[in-house]
Amino acid sequence: MFEFPRIPTPLDIGRTLAGHPWLAAAGALGGGTAFLGYSVLYSGSQVFAPVIKRIKDRRAVALTFDDGPTPAFTGPVLDILARRNVRATFFLIGRNARTNPDMVARIVAEGHTVGNHSWDHDHRGAFGSRSYWAAQLERTSRILFDASGKSPVLFRAPMGFKTFSQARAVQRAGLRFVAWRVRAWDTLSISARTITRIMKNRVRGGDILTLHDGLEPARRHCSQEQTVRALPQIIEYLRDRGYRCVPLEAALDFPVYESTQGISGKGG
Ligand SMILES: [Zn+2]
Repeated sequence: MFEFPRIPTPLDIGRTLAGHPWLAAAGALGGGTAFLGYSVLYSGSQVFAPVIKRIKDRRAVALTFDDGPTPAFTGPVLDILARRNVRATFFLIGRNARTNPDMVARIVAEGHTVGNHSWDHDHRGAFGSRSYWAAQLERTSRILFDASGKSPVLFRAPMGFKTFSQARAVQRAGLRFVAWRVRAWDTLSISARTITRIMKNRVRGGDILTLHDGLEPARRHCSQEQTVRALPQIIEYLRDRGYRCVPLEAALDFPVYESTQGISGKGG
């Protein structure tokens, strides 16, 4: 007579694996690799350190912009935000800040929050040691402080990739990881319409949203023009839905800059 195969219980699986050590080892290796991949690649993974990806106020959202300052796009983004009286957060690349210190000063002067987004956004940085990351953070914070008088506490990992060494350096420097809940994939040469659609489809109250106003030092030939074109429609949509756009300085319950005393305590 036909019998339906029984669904294996965890005990059955355990017995099977005990009888086949190689199978158990392969399973453990596969699981370990998957877990490591999740820990490093998923921007919101909290495995190495706590990561902020939402804000408490569910009637608000936080617009964030990465990879600037790049005058060709950061300037127009700032103009759009100013015209609509919107404050946002900019995660700046140290090398870009060094060439555009006046843009850093303008971002802060116009009421936006700034954060650290590494010195050069090198994609090989995922393999960097703790001292590599300490230097990436320190150089960037120093340039941002020189340009704006602010030393950021917020750090966004390049591409959202986090590693153990990086997390150690971030925590030792007294910085805090910020990721996002929604990103528009606007570095992938997609149209303003698509960028807007992704945001509209996914946004919920309390979200941290990520767009790009800047170019990584290794991507100088690219353009964020579609982001600039999409931004007014995104802001309009958020307002229609009743969300306030807030800079992270106003949305988080801890100071987003080191006290100047801390800076001078470090020797200037
Ligand atoms: Zn980036």
